[in-house]
Amino acid sequence: MFILKKTYKYRAYPSQSQKSTLNRQMYLSKQLYNLLLEQSQKYFKETGKTFTKYDMNKWITKLKKKNPEFNELYSQVCQNVADRVSGAYKNFFRRIKERKQGKKVKGGFPRFKSYISSLTYPQSGFKLEKKMVSVSKIGRINFVNHRDMEGKIKTMAIKQTKSQEWYITFSTEKEDTSLFSNNKPQVGMDLGLKEYATLSDGTRIPNPRISNKSIDKLKTIQRRLSNKKKGGKNRRKAKIKLARISEHIARQRDDFLHKTSYRLVNSYSSIAYEELKIANMAKNHNLARQITDASWGNFTQYLCYKAESAGCRVVGVNPRNTTRTCSKCGNIQDIGLSERTYLCQNCGLKIDRDLNASINILTTAGHAGSNASGDVVRPQLQEAAVGESGTILGGSR
Ligand SMILES: [Zn+2]
Repeated sequence: MFILKKTYKYRAYPSQSQKSTLNRQMYLSKQLYNLLLEQSQKYFKETGKTFTKYDMNKWITKLKKKNPEFNELYSQVCQNVADRVSGAYKNFFRRIKERKQGKKVKGGFPRFKSYISSLTYPQSGFKLEKKMVSVSKIGRINFVNHRDMEGKIKTMAIKQTKSQEWYITFSTEKEDTSLFSNNKPQVGMDLGLKEYATLSDGTRIPNPRISNKSIDKLKTIQRRLSNKKKGGKNRRKAKIKLARISEHIARQRDDFLHKTSYRLVNSYSSIAYEELKIANMAKNHNLARQITDASWGNFTQYLCYKAESAGCRVVGVNPRNTTRTCSKCGNIQDIGLSERTYLCQNCGLKIDRDLNASINILTTAGHAGSNASGDVVRPQLQEAAVGESGTILGGSR
């Protein structure tokens, strides 16, 4: 049995005074984050050891005595900030480990934050009413409850986008008891740039074009932004405008992701994809490509949560050698980044590179499924991944 995680996002309309309280609390969260990070670094440099969550909690208690303003933050929100710092530290240690194994990863301590734009309530401190959520230390916030939630609510987060809209997201958990029985074919899926996705049965899902107009607009405003004086009013205005366009593109992209994922879960009984592909893709400066990169995570999440009701299962597989292996004979050979066709030196198979990969993904999923059902992976819906859809373009903050 699997635990099914879902995230629900609603537009929220806090009052003016709630907005200033929220902004104040986000400011305090940022201060707390940076103080905890500073403390962790100091501790690491002195002892070579991790500043544990237990240490952090003790330290926060002391901090609150000295600086009572931190009592304005709900205790669970403080807890979440500590979790974020320790998460950043875990990643730091993971990168060190990877570097020792010879992988090329950027090291360096976790960075200090110049802002935090969300507050997360991990367990308590909020109560759901019909069109409002009552939040400890903030009050009752109005939101547009356009969709009923399923499962048990685990966390609640309030977030402000860069275009200064507010959203509330709830993540829920539910035991998945579905029997996966829609009798449709199984398929492997290769996510890519040339095609958005290539399926092992030969289906191609083209990459939707972001209108050149939107891209041009973005570029113009980005350029203008870099000419504006830092901290000035015009710069702030241009930033909001930039965020609005990015969010508009993100919404269009989101629409495509919802429609495509819906179509797929209703056409197949099982969809296998490469789990780490998203994380492994190199950063690129091309805008259109950044948008594509950022949407893969959301896409697999949408697939997962739509899969259940459609009787489909979504399986994440290890991406090892999916591109280099011949899908016919299993021979492993190198293939250049720009080579579109896989030509097997062993059996002579000539096949489209992405199609070859998608067949290997299907095969890998088959092996995984035969030895343990626990290999079925549903990606976790994380607040960051879902809530950030408006910020995928990076740009200057
Ligand atoms: Zn071959």
